[in-house]
Amino acid sequence: KQQALPKPDWLRIKLTTGGNYAEIKDMMGSKKLHTVCEEARCPNIYECWANRTATFMILGDICTRACRFCAVKTGMPTELDLEEPKRVAEAAEQMGLRHCVVTSVARDDLKDGGAMIFAETVKAIRERLPLCSVEVLIPDFMGSEESLRVVMDANPNILNHNIETVARMSDRVRAKAKYPRSIELLKRAKQMKPNIPTKSSIMLGVGETYEEILQAMDDLRAVDVDILTLGQYLQPTPNHLPIVRYVHPDEFAQLKEEGLKRGFSHVESGPLVRSSYHAHEQVKSASEA
Ligand code: SF4
Ligand code: SF4
Repeated sequence: KQQALPKPDWLRIKLTTGGNYAEIKDMMGSKKLHTVCEEARCPNIYECWANRTATFMILGDICTRACRFCAVKTGMPTELDLEEPKRVAEAAEQMGLRHCVVTSVARDDLKDGGAMIFAETVKAIRERLPLCSVEVLIPDFMGSEESLRVVMDANPNILNHNIETVARMSDRVRAKAKYPRSIELLKRAKQMKPNIPTKSSIMLGVGETYEEILQAMDDLRAVDVDILTLGQYLQPTPNHLPIVRYVHPDEFAQLKEEGLKRGFSHVESGPLVRSSYHAHEQVKSASEA
């Protein structure tokens, strides 16, 4: 069995607890809501919640896919919960969110992949919190243009869909998702609503080369993706995809420069960067672009 790589210093972070963290955690439980912040044990949770940003995971916590990097449970999903959009909006209001990210497991068992619930959630948050920006981080809906349109018609502030990794590694890292299909989704989203910023994310350290990362950036820019996030892949359990290398912070900084040179309006790049990290700042820079 492969020996785990030792964790570099820049990933040994001190978690600061406090604030209203415990209170918010209880509220999520009582509303039967799931956040990626908690489920993925995201290292940025205190900072994000204090900055009034959170990522809700809708459509249940059981996924129909099993990507090799992801800690979400796989299996038969729960029944569709039509009240969920309302509860997400209530929770967002109680947290006083300024930026809300809405994402979901892949629901390949549903005809529309859950697109309707995404749209309803965007609308419900808008009604309660008109000043809160809403970013949707969507699955690929098996390539359905119709489902994508349902989400785009709700006018999210940012349309996010992660390619997760470079083209060569895609089949190994993601389950059922296809690199070209993801690029196509981002292209269509831009064509449907040119004014809505699009965004994607790549995890580094799963075996990709530097050149391949640059190529992935070019692929995203070729379909006018506006915002890019790059972060270090961290293995959730020993049964998940191994970490091939830890990318040095200097390389993340260099990649940010490469991204900006290619015309992304905003690039978040760093070891602890996650798709929704500093997302509220990205809305600002995208609307200024
Ligand atoms: Fe939550 Fe995203 Fe912030 Fe992590 S980076 S705490 S998942 S909002
Ligand atoms: Fe995780 Fe999303 Fe893959 Fe499901 S589709 S296993 S939630 S990354």
